[in-house]
Amino acid sequence: MPITLEKAFIKIEKEQCKGCTLCIEVCPVKVLKISDKFNSRGYHYSEYVGDGCTGCGVCFYACPEPGAITVYKRGAVVDEKIFSLN
Ligand code: SF4
Ligand code: SF4
Repeated sequence: MPITLEKAFIKIEKEQCKGCTLCIEVCPVKVLKISDKFNSRGYHYSEYVGDGCTGCGVCFYACPEPGAITVYKRGAVVDEKIFSLN
């Protein structure tokens, strides 16, 4: 079911992440962190802390892995399933 986002957020596809931490370093509001857990390729992956993203997109442009980060801006119309997929 489509919903309109009231605030921005990002999704990180943990299997695409190589844990380089570039996104964490560039995020102006410091809402990303490295996970204690490993993905299936043996990398600690980056995670969104869950709140505070402004949707600026800086992390997306810094990430060297295509498809690892998706930025959803406030006001975007998305399928609510994106909250349950990882
Ligand atoms: S979109 Fe901007 S505020 Fe949101 S996590 Fe990425 S760098 Fe941080
Ligand atoms: S910049 Fe991309 S590959 Fe590097 S830690 Fe962040 S999501 Fe992972």
